[in-house]
Amino acid sequence: MTHPGSDSTTPLGWEDTERTQRRMFGQLAWVGALACLGTLAFQWPTPTPRDLIALPLLAALLLGLLLAVRRGWLSLIPAARAALLGLTLYFLVGLWPWPGSGGGHLSLLSESTYWFPVLYAGAFLLFAPREALRWSAVTYLLALAVCLYRLLWGPEARSVDLAASVIQFQMVGLIMILMQATFGAQRGQLLAARQAARQDPLTGLANRRAGEERLAELAHAGRPFTLVVFDLDHFKAVNDTHGHAVGDRVLQMTARLSRGLLPPGGVATRWGGEEFLLILPPLEPGALQTLLDALRASLARERVDGVRGVTASFGVAVSAPGEPPERVVARADAAMYAAKARGRNGVQHAELASVDQSLPVGDA
Ligand code: GH3
Ligand code: MG
Ligand code: MG
Repeated sequence: MTHPGSDSTTPLGWEDTERTQRRMFGQLAWVGALACLGTLAFQWPTPTPRDLIALPLLAALLLGLLLAVRRGWLSLIPAARAALLGLTLYFLVGLWPWPGSGGGHLSLLSESTYWFPVLYAGAFLLFAPREALRWSAVTYLLALAVCLYRLLWGPEARSVDLAASVIQFQMVGLIMILMQATFGAQRGQLLAARQAARQDPLTGLANRRAGEERLAELAHAGRPFTLVVFDLDHFKAVNDTHGHAVGDRVLQMTARLSRGLLPPGGVATRWGGEEFLLILPPLEPGALQTLLDALRASLARERVDGVRGVTASFGVAVSAPGEPPERVVARADAAMYAAKARGRNGVQHAELASVDQSLPVGDA
């Protein structure tokens, strides 16, 4: 997964997925750690030697990984892999009839088996479908190997009860994996559809809907932002002179240059036909100026099928605390039209918004 917002070819929306996964990992880690300690408490004062060592280690692993993810020392997917690996090893080892655990019913599989569907579901919730399938298949085959070894050479080899227990365990595992894989594929299609609904097909930039969602998110989180609206100058003439296909390629070039110059956390959107909106984190005036200068210079320099010297008119607006995003957009837009009116190929800064929201939209 890419870093949030730093790559606007990934339209917004996937962030929801990552947020959900982070929340889920937190819940799984807490529940898992509590289950480990609860199991130990339940066995007290005579825990099996294996659990006495393994369960506190597992709880520490889960909580340690959670802390590492929260602190940003480790990203989510490697942490999820490590957590799932620890749990899988524990439950695989638990399939063996260790002395002292389940000695009275050697001919049945242990309670470890209850947890394998959870391992499969966890893999499909946390990983992409293909990786989840690989994890589940390897876990399934290892569990099958332990079971077959027990059936053939274990202390209760060739027991009919054990065979029945193994067959059911393996069947449930297979069905769980198939079901999860189906859900995983559907989730993949859903995400692809979500992505398509937020991406402009011509330029690959986030589309207006994605931009509006991003603005709503920023406003909801109370985070300040800077908007740059720009509209290509005399673009109709490009179409009229060189044809619509060339016009399209100029738009693609503009998108590529905008994307390339974005600061971390910035998003470039295609707001309308030949109008773009950059949603930027708060920047020092010098940094913003440098960005705009670089964008204008590269637009002017680039050549697309005989079109050269592309210019645009820019409007800039900085959000005021509590200002609705539509108002910031309206101020940036008005500033852009002021730049057009002043002869195009220029930058106009909107005045700072008044804190009083009842005032009409101020322009440049
Ligand atoms: P101004 O400097 O005032 O902005 O002039 P302009 O010619 O750029 O503005 P106008 O609004 O008159 O024309 C915009 C043109 O952009 C007209 C429209 O055909 C063209 N356009 C909009 N979307 C696309 C597109 O996806 N591809 C192409 N090739 N052209 C597009
Ligand atoms: Mg234009
Ligand atoms: Mg326009």
